[in-house]
Amino acid sequence: MNGISGWFRQLAQRLTYGTRRFMEGRYGTDRLNMAILTAGLVACIVSMFIRVPLVNLILTGISYGLMIWAICRSLSRNTYKRYQENRKFLQIFGRLKDREHRYFDCPKCRQMVRVPRGKGKIAITCPRCREKFVRKT
Ligand SMILES: [Zn+2]
Repeated sequence: MNGISGWFRQLAQRLTYGTRRFMEGRYGTDRLNMAILTAGLVACIVSMFIRVPLVNLILTGISYGLMIWAICRSLSRNTYKRYQENRKFLQIFGRLKDREHRYFDCPKCRQMVRVPRGKGKIAITCPRCREKFVRKT
């Protein structure tokens, strides 16, 4: 009994070590990857209920594509680029969820400016380049 549990422990250790070595310098997973995987899974489940061959094929293709994309991202060695993608995704997602503010890009320097919603037409001053522009909130 002791021998088997010891063997298992050794195997687990070796697997952990192997995985860690394999993932070294690679990006791993993040919120964007979880979202991609979820979308892939949803497409996969939906495709199971659709009997139209072409739609089914497209959905299956999308779900495989998304899952492969997520795996490629997690194995990527270009961690900086992946990090930036995730940051952008979280930014867009945060904007969609935010019901109290509106977001505008400065027409001059593209800086994102957040203003409260429902204030009518207001003059906005860009905090970075001091450019003034009028927007309806
Ligand atoms: Zn600006």
